[in-house]
Amino acid sequence: MRAKAASLWLLLWMLAVGCQALTSVDCQAATQNHSGSAGAPVKMHRLAKADLSPPSRLVPVNAQPALPDSLRGIIRRVALPAGDKRLALTFDLCERAVHVTGFDAALVDVLRKENARATFFAGGKWMRSHPEATMSLMADPRFELGNHTWTHANLAVMQGQKRIDQVLWTNAQAELLREELDARRVKAGKQALGPKPLTLLRLPYGRGGAEAVAAINGLGLAVIQWDVVGEGGGGSVAARAKAIAEAVRPGSIVLLHANQVPKDTAALVRALLPLLRQRGYATATVSELLQAGAPETVDDGYFSVPGDNRIYDNRFEDNGTGGRAKAGATSGKQ
Ligand SMILES: [Zn+2]
Repeated sequence: MRAKAASLWLLLWMLAVGCQALTSVDCQAATQNHSGSAGAPVKMHRLAKADLSPPSRLVPVNAQPALPDSLRGIIRRVALPAGDKRLALTFDLCERAVHVTGFDAALVDVLRKENARATFFAGGKWMRSHPEATMSLMADPRFELGNHTWTHANLAVMQGQKRIDQVLWTNAQAELLREELDARRVKAGKQALGPKPLTLLRLPYGRGGAEAVAAINGLGLAVIQWDVVGEGGGGSVAARAKAIAEAVRPGSIVLLHANQVPKDTAALVRALLPLLRQRGYATATVSELLQAGAPETVDDGYFSVPGDNRIYDNRFEDNGTGGRAKAGATSGKQ
């Protein structure tokens, strides 16, 4: 149990600092396998100076549908009708202001080979630094994209217009890339896909709270958490895949990552998918689960135990978008 808790803390730390937690050799290794179906490789690296620049479009031009009342709150899982054994694998694409992260093309290849459906929560700045990977995901009907804020902001700490911008800039960036994708499709003689505003959002660090969630819901996005933490358990890939397969229920939402932090998600998912099939599960996007059942919500988000993500509220400077803070630099801002 102690080992499991230690592993979870290591995972939380890695997610918090991104490539900082890896040695430079690890970082290099983590960027080797990016080519393939998802486009040109992007090297994971730390920036000399935080990049807080906005996207070239600040507000989406396409209408955002209003969020139905039934989808308000922080959604942990979906209660499905009896006999429906679908669940959602979700992959975050996190990128803070201080670094450029990777893209796990090997993972996406595994999903495609197994014909698995999946939801990717992409940071807006990540989409800007990974345009080809983003468009590749957008073009695949098995996948859907959601919003993971512009620079992986802690929305429980960030307030007002800055918080709104983190959401709108990300939807605007997705819109720009969808337009580029459609322009390429039309040029190639294919039918345009048309606009598709992002309607789901994953809170970085799972941090939100009633006020932030109401603001996000007011912008037309549902807040999607998870009931199963996919990465971070102890032991071999096979043991961790088995632990996930035993933890899920119909309607579960599984938290995983596709930005190569951590690095072995492709192997984990390769081992997991057959185990899920053996147990009668099928994959669905989060939107498909929401269409089929009733969301189960909580008042405040967490990883595995309520309160286990509050450490992120004073750890980073610049309201969670910059680098590591000096002690106490953001205390009292919440
Ligand atoms: Zn994230």
